[in-house]
Amino acid sequence: DFVDMETEERVRRYDRAHVFHSWSAQGKIDPLPIAGGRGCEFWDFEGKRYLDFASQLVYTNLGHQHPKVVAAIKEQAERLCVIQPAFASQPTAELAHAIAELAPGDLEMVFFTNGGAEANENAIRLARMYTGRHKILAAYRSYHGATHGAITITGDPRRWASEPAISGVVHFCGPYTYRSSFFSKDEKEECERALAHLEEIIQYEGAHTIAGIILETIVGTNGILVPPEGYLQGVREICDKHGIVMILDEVMTGFGRTGYWFGCEGFGVTPDLMTCAKGITSGAVPLGAVVISRKIADAFQDRVFYGGLTYSGHPLACAAGLAAVTAMKEEGVVENAKMIGDEVLGPGLRELMDKHPSVGDVRGRGCFWGIELVKNRETREMLVPFNASGAEMGPVGELGHAAMNRGLSLMIHWNVIMIAPPLIITPEEAQRGLAILDEVLEITDRAVS
Ligand code: PLP
Repeated sequence: DFVDMETEERVRRYDRAHVFHSWSAQGKIDPLPIAGGRGCEFWDFEGKRYLDFASQLVYTNLGHQHPKVVAAIKEQAERLCVIQPAFASQPTAELAHAIAELAPGDLEMVFFTNGGAEANENAIRLARMYTGRHKILAAYRSYHGATHGAITITGDPRRWASEPAISGVVHFCGPYTYRSSFFSKDEKEECERALAHLEEIIQYEGAHTIAGIILETIVGTNGILVPPEGYLQGVREICDKHGIVMILDEVMTGFGRTGYWFGCEGFGVTPDLMTCAKGITSGAVPLGAVVISRKIADAFQDRVFYGGLTYSGHPLACAAGLAAVTAMKEEGVVENAKMIGDEVLGPGLRELMDKHPSVGDVRGRGCFWGIELVKNRETREMLVPFNASGAEMGPVGELGHAAMNRGLSLMIHWNVIMIAPPLIITPEEAQRGLAILDEVLEITDRAVS
C-alpha cells in the first residue's frame, strides 16, 4: 500500500546486524522485510503482494488481521493484559470451554502453553505421571518442536544438534505408502505392516515401560503424510491393549486445517491427549494447548500435576484464541477448508501431477497438501537429497524463488512443497496460486531424468 524504502533499509540493516534467525546459517540468509498483510496476502515495503500458500508456518488459518481477532486483542489489552495462571480468567475459561465442546470424545480439559513444543513437553509429562512409566514412542519423519523433549521425540535431522537427547525415547517408522519402509504394495498392506512393526517395537521395549505413543495425525513438515485408512484406529487399539497413552500432535492439523475441527475426527479416532498451537489463535498471539481426556485429568484430582508456565492461559492469547474459534464457527471456515480441498486443491494438484513429470505424488486433505518432487517417477528418486539445504536445494530452491517473484509464497521441505493456505481462501485465490505453481513446476521438470 505504501513505499517506504527508508524503513525497509533500516529493518534490513538492523535485522542482519542483530536478529539471530531460526534454523539458519546466519551469513547465508537475506530475510525479506514485510510491511503488512491482510487475509491470504502479505506485502513488502515496495508494496509487492504475495499470496500466502503456506499460512506462514501453517498457522494463519483465518488469514492475516482477521478483524474479529484484532478487535478481541485490543479489547482484552484494554481490560487486562495478563493475570497469573493460579487465578481464573474470562478469556481463558471461555476458550477452554469452547475447545472442550469442539474436541472429540472425552477430551474436556485444557492445559495452555505458549506454543506447540511446550504442549508436547507437557503431554510427555502427563503421560509419564499418569502411567508411572518412562518411555515415549515417537515416529521417524516427524516434527514436534524444538525444546529438549519435543526435539527428542522429533524424528528428523533437526534433532541431531540437540543430542544427547532426553532419555527414554524410542523411534519407530510410521506409514508412508509412497516410500514404504515395509515394502508394501498398497495402502492396506502399508497399514498392516506399519501396525505390526509398532507391535514388534513394543514387544522389544516392554509394554509395561511405555508411557505414551505420539504421532502427528497427518505428518506435517516431513512430507504431508496422510496415514492409510485404519492406521490410527490400529494405534488406538494397541494403546488400549497395553495401557499406553495415545498422544496426537495436532499443532498443524488442528483448528480446521484438514477440513475438520481436529484432524483426528477425519479418521474417527480420539486420542488420550491432543496437542495444539498455531491455528488456535490464527497465529496472532502465541498459544498452545494440551487437550486432556477426562480420564487422565481425573487422575490429577487429588494428585499434584507437576508442570506449569508463567504464561499458561495468558488472557491476551486466549482472547485471540476465543475470537479465532468464534469467527471460524460463525463464518463456516472449517467447511470452506474442506470444500477448497475437495473441489479446488485436490483436483487442481492432481492435474498438475498429470502434466508435470517432476511431480511424483500429491496427497492431503482440506487445506493441507504436499507435492512430492522426484527425479524419476519410476525409481521415485527424490529430486533433492535427504536433508538438503541451501545450494543443495538446486531446482527446488529455484522453484521457490521463481514462485516468490511471481507473488506466491511457498513452504518447501526438501523435495516436498507444502500447500497450506489460510482456510478462508476463495476458489479464485486458490486457482491463482495453482496457476503460478503450474508455471514454476517447469523449472523442476527440467531436472527430471
Ligand atoms: N508439532 C508440529 C506438528 C509442528 O509442525 C510444530 C511446528 O512447526 C510443532 C509441534 C512445534 O510448535 P512450536 O514451534 O509452536 O513450538
